[in-house]
Amino acid sequence: MAVRALARVNLAAIERNVARLRDGLADGVELCAVVKGNGYGHGALPAARAALAGGARLLAVATAGEAAELRAGGIEGPVLVMGAVSDEELPVALGARAELVTWTPEFVERLRRACTGAGAAPVRLHVKLDTGMGRLGTRDPDEAIRIAETIADAGPALELAGAMTHFASADEDRSFTSAQLARFEPFAAAMRERWPGIVVHAANSAATLREPASHFDLVRCGIAIYGCDPMNDDPATHGLEPALELTSYVAAVKPARAGESAGYGRRWVARSDTWVATVPIGYADGIRRALTNNCDVLIAGRRYPLVGTVSMDNITVEVGAPDAVRPGDRVTIIGADGHGRQTAEEVARRIGTISYEIVCGLTPRVPRVYHRDGTPA
Ligand SMILES: *Cc1c(COP(=O)(O)O)cnc(C)c1O
Repeated sequence: MAVRALARVNLAAIERNVARLRDGLADGVELCAVVKGNGYGHGALPAARAALAGGARLLAVATAGEAAELRAGGIEGPVLVMGAVSDEELPVALGARAELVTWTPEFVERLRRACTGAGAAPVRLHVKLDTGMGRLGTRDPDEAIRIAETIADAGPALELAGAMTHFASADEDRSFTSAQLARFEPFAAAMRERWPGIVVHAANSAATLREPASHFDLVRCGIAIYGCDPMNDDPATHGLEPALELTSYVAAVKPARAGESAGYGRRWVARSDTWVATVPIGYADGIRRALTNNCDVLIAGRRYPLVGTVSMDNITVEVGAPDAVRPGDRVTIIGADGHGRQTAEEVARRIGTISYEIVCGLTPRVPRVYHRDGTPA
């Protein structure tokens, strides 16, 4: 049966990716699965459950609302909110019993005042040092230690849980990662010496795969658990399996004579007589308009070029001959078909972006269907 647009997510692949990433860690180093951005477009809850089944010990999200979503879905274990938490989000974060990140004494004070309820479990806080990302965190290690002291002295409502940083270019520039590590290490050592129970963490997926010195107590892996390559190359080189497959179908096949065009703006004009298939998926599904005249799709194991403008609800594909494809044939935009394969990284490189943006960009209009190696989940 032809389905208009479908993202099939293999939960067993997420499990195996987590297990493989864990295999690369030294004994005692744990994995935190990052499921922000709706699980990088894969669905936060199913991704979270699969990651936990694969051996993740902690889940991380960007926002308080994302933490609440995990709790509403029945996730019981630790959830870390990595992003800044606004006043408006604070009650949501506390309600979700999330661990939080801080880099200012003001935030610690705000939290201490907000958590006066006796008997509640303490809020676990991670102090963030900005070692070169230039985004969140304090640049000053002495200030970070003073913030940690404030937390440790704040009484039973707060608990000092960790010390962390984030890498700016672990996927590109390893020397900058080394420089960030050199800034982080003395801070991490000082924190550990004073508070031996804390969790020290820094690595994202790229650093997890390439920089064992950055693993510390915990690695925070996002993109790699979904089987995408943080270096935007081929995930298979790291033994990662893409979990997501994006398909549509051939809705119509028609001739295009030399000089006739397909799509808005007539950005593709047939140079000679040919045939065009219309596939009912478009930018409202997350097929970026920048892929106009600049992508392939797979039909029956063969590659065909996307021609013409990506519209909101349709793309057009040059198939060449009337009998090359048939209405109802499955069209694969991301995934494998026969011997053909197209990764999210390949689609991303076409338009100068990264696989993260391609998978996160799939809109709610695309149904997500879950399976385990082909068996419905
Ligand atoms: C998103 C994020 C990660 C995960 O990054 P990946 O490259 O997807 O592994 C880790 N740490 C922080 C702070 C993040 O925001």
